Amino acid sequence: MATTDNSFNGMTEHCEECNLDTLHEVTVQIRTESLKKENAQFSREPYRVTECQRCGVRKSQRMNNLMLRRCLYDAQVSRLNRLKELSESH
Ligand SMILES: [Zn+2]
Repeated sequence: MATTDNSFNGMTEHCEECNLDTLHEVTVQIRTESLKKENAQFSREPYRVTECQRCGVRKSQRMNNLMLRRCLYDAQVSRLNRLKELSESH
């Protein structure tokens, strides 16, 4: 079972396939994994999923708390920048 978080972000990152710095779509995915069926114990594991907008290669990387915080912070900053651009253009 997988749920997708609504954090969305476009970032320039290095793509190994293209061997270039390309635009990537970055999403945070929280995968809920049950550890034991009988136990009803669940762990929520955050993954950082990047998709190269040039060649379409997807990579997912399990995040630790520090990475998660940074990723969410990046998403927040890019959202704030977008709002700022909108308010300045009016
Ligand atoms: Zn690529």
